[in-house]
Amino acid sequence: MSTTFHIYRLQQVDTQIDKVNKRLREIQRIIDDNRDLKRAKVRAQKAKLAQEETAKILKKAENNVKAQHLQIEQTESMLYGGSVKNPKEIQDLQQKTESLKRHLSTLQDVQLEAMVAHEEKVEAFNKTKRALKKLRAELIQQNSELGGEETVLKQEKDRLLKERAAALPDIPAEMLNTYNKLREAKNGFAVVSVVDNSCSACGAMLTSAQQQNARTTLAYCPSCKRIIYAG
Ligand SMILES: [Zn+2]
Repeated sequence: MSTTFHIYRLQQVDTQIDKVNKRLREIQRIIDDNRDLKRAKVRAQKAKLAQEETAKILKKAENNVKAQHLQIEQTESMLYGGSVKNPKEIQDLQQKTESLKRHLSTLQDVQLEAMVAHEEKVEAFNKTKRALKKLRAELIQQNSELGGEETVLKQEKDRLLKERAAALPDIPAEMLNTYNKLREAKNGFAVVSVVDNSCSACGAMLTSAQQQNARTTLAYCPSCKRIIYAG
């Protein structure tokens, strides 16, 4: 059995653990990352306030129109009620009625504008509500799937950690030390296999002497300086 067999085995387990950890971190990030939802809530809240504001403006415009109608009715009933006989007074009332009606037209325009503006804000608010509902549904579905995946990954990690613990006693302390340093320096890959007479990490060709060396002692890839394992 090759000298480096045990650290090669350790490397395989560690590589799997790295992969599981990476995915677990991703899942955690996705679950924690509710920024989209927060943003959607803020948008909906702003849209709600905006439509409450236009509702107030519209209500006021409607009341103004109603009040103007009432005033016109009162003036006209005086005019046509027969109680006012003086031609000057009648003329004044006629002028007043006309003036009131002209102003009514202005108030109605304002009311129409307020109505259009309010409808726009209501539609905008409804749109944010729909978007929020959709996003919530997506997050719930996504998180339940992710939750299931997380459970499976955690079980896998437990199993791998046990396997790792079982592999450790076979590795001399000094070799383990070298392994750990290389793992840190070489992107997690300290021990690599020989595939097609080449280092599987960097692709450098290995002479048959180097490959033979890898079988019998602690040997390094001449190019990327990782420990090479030849089974
Ligand atoms: Zn290499």
